Amino acid sequence: MMSIAGKCLCGAVTYTADRSPVIVAQCHCEECRRLSGTGHTVGAMFRASQVAVTGKLGEFRYVSDRGSEVTRAFCVNCGSPIYGKNTRSPDHLTLSLGTMDQATGLDVEVVIFERDKPHWDRVGEDVVSCATQPDWIPDS
Ligand SMILES: [Zn+2]
Ligand SMILES: [Zn+2]
Repeated sequence: MMSIAGKCLCGAVTYTADRSPVIVAQCHCEECRRLSGTGHTVGAMFRASQVAVTGKLGEFRYVSDRGSEVTRAFCVNCGSPIYGKNTRSPDHLTLSLGTMDQATGLDVEVVIFERDKPHWDRVGEDVVSCATQPDWIPDS
């Protein structure tokens, strides 16, 4: 079986996971928006036994709207969100798709907390799209 590899922005935290997530979900809840600094997170849930993580993680815990405890694990050096876990399903953890080297074959299967999706978290057809960083800088 092929495996998925990933790392944080600075590279201090790396991980591998078997290529068979339980589900891939996009979440617009307030916690995910604040964690990501944008409109949503996208995560792939795996059985915890499928995932091996190396490097120093920090953890932040909070109580979900259902009363379970959520733990968010991040690189202590660069802050990249690596995974989340929830006491509702203690045998699983959810890896951030954005930290994967390649997420070949993974697609969002479900969107949750859609009601909390901010109006700006979508791209209109008239928005200019650049393949890489444009030369534009703001006027001084
Ligand atoms: Zn890092
Ligand atoms: Zn969420």
